Formats: sequence, C-alpha cells, structure tokens
Amino acid sequence: MDTTSASDEGEPANNNHSYFRILVFCTCIAFLFSCKQPKKELPPAPPPGPDTLVIEKKPAATTDTIAKKPMGKKKIYLTFDDGPNKGTRNVLQVSKEENVPISFFIVGKHVFDSPEQKATWELLKADTSIVMCNHSYTHAGGQYTRFYSNPAGVVADIRSCQEKLAFPNYVVRMPGRNAWRIADIRVTDIKESRAAIDSVYQAGFDVMGWDIEWSFDHKTLSPDTATGILLRRIRNMLDAGTTKTPGHLVLLAHDQAFQKTNDISMLVSFLRELKSNEDYEFILAGKYPRLRRVPE
Ligand SMILES: [Zn+2]
Repeated sequence: MDTTSASDEGEPANNNHSYFRILVFCTCIAFLFSCKQPKKELPPAPPPGPDTLVIEKKPAATTDTIAKKPMGKKKIYLTFDDGPNKGTRNVLQVSKEENVPISFFIVGKHVFDSPEQKATWELLKADTSIVMCNHSYTHAGGQYTRFYSNPAGVVADIRSCQEKLAFPNYVVRMPGRNAWRIADIRVTDIKESRAAIDSVYQAGFDVMGWDIEWSFDHKTLSPDTATGILLRRIRNMLDAGTTKTPGHLVLLAHDQAFQKTNDISMLVSFLRELKSNEDYEFILAGKYPRLRRVPE
C-alpha cells in the first residue's frame, strides 16, 4: 500500500515539476527572442536635394588651383609670304589700321623687280611694328626639285638674300616647302629636300615652316578658305596642343591673295575675330621660342 500510495502521491508531484520547468524554459526563450529582435529601422534617407548637391560643387579657387591653370596667352604668328608684290601694301595697311603685328617673308628678287616693289620694300622697312624675314632670293625660280638637289646652291641663295636686305633676324622660310629646323623641331615635308635644308640650318639660320595655311586660289588669287573655318581650325589646334610648339601657332598667308576689295575685307574681319579673343596675342616671327639668334 505504502508503495501504492507513494506511487499515487509521487505522480502528481513529478507532473507539477515538469510544468514548472517548461514554463521557465518558455519564459527564457521568449526573453531571448525579444532581445534578438532587430531594432526598429530608421526611416530611409531622403532623396538627394539641394543640400547634398552642395557637396559636389567645385571648391572655390585657391592659390593651388590658380597655379595649375595654363600659363599666359596663346601666341599667334601671322606670317605673309612672297612680297613685295601687288598685295603687300594692302596687308601692310591692314596691319597698321588694325594694330596687328605681321611678319613678312620676303623674296629678295621681288624687291628689285620694279621701282614700285622697291618702294614697297622701303615702306615695310619704315614700319617698326612689323618685321621682315628671309624667304630666299630667287624662290627657287619655281624649280623646286632642281633647287633642293644642290644644298650649296640653296645656302648661297639664302645668304645672298640675307646680305642684300640685312634682315634683323636669321629666320628663314624655305621656298615651296613646309620645313622646320628650330631647336629639336625637325620637319621636312618632302624628304629629297632634307640635305639642303640641313645645310641652311648648319649655316646659322633657323628654319620656320607653318602650322596652318590660309591658302588661295591660284587662278583668281583670292583666299579659298572661309574665315570661320580658319578660325575654328586655329582654335582646335591651339586647344589640342598640336602646333609645333604648344601654345604657339604660325599661320601662313600670302600677300598676293589680298588685292581685291572683298579679299582685303575678309582679312580685316579675320584679324578682328582673332583680336576679339582675349586668349590670343600676336607675336613677330623673330620672337618665336628657342631661336638661336634672337634679334636685338
Ligand atoms: Zn613662297
């Protein structure tokens, strides 16, 4: 009996203990679960507004940023070839009226071809705002292949022009060739001329070609490129740094293309457009960088 009663009494006692343990276990689980609940999320960030855009604004100019800007104005060398001829006085007059310095590359023989051409040469010499440079004495007589096949003859022709006209610099433009020999700028457009042009450089002259040409129609003698196109090419070359010396652009034009009123007007408007660009300044050929013999 005792065993039975013990057994009867013992059963309810065991059940109560189990319920208590389950209750504690569940309470603990519930407590732990509540602790691991993620915190309530913050509302999402507002879309970018004026405040966030402020961060992207360029910083105000400082001494550093100013120092990294390109230095100085872009230099343009306006060079006109083959005078004195019928267009030379017009180009000279426009140069004076527009107050734009121009470099005239002179063919020695043309100075002595007629009294009028000699008088034009004297007019050029009297103007201190321009400069004259050597473009050979004979201009190869138009026979370029034969001329350049004789380097000694080419040097003699250039020296003859230099002695007769006493240019204030030693800058030469080769007739019929876009060739350069200035410091490490070594360009020869037609390879057969290389030895002759090297000889001119060895004789003490710096050889200047051009970066861009304002060409003309050889029948009508009028410029054959619209000024808008020319101005755009000039800007593109200077911006891209593709001139022989970055930041310095040599333009070739020809005196004889400016004989007619309309063509002279085109030259005037071209120069006014260039002048209106504050990034440009005009420089004479004798001041091109790295010449060996700088004018006094
Ligand atoms: Zn020429």
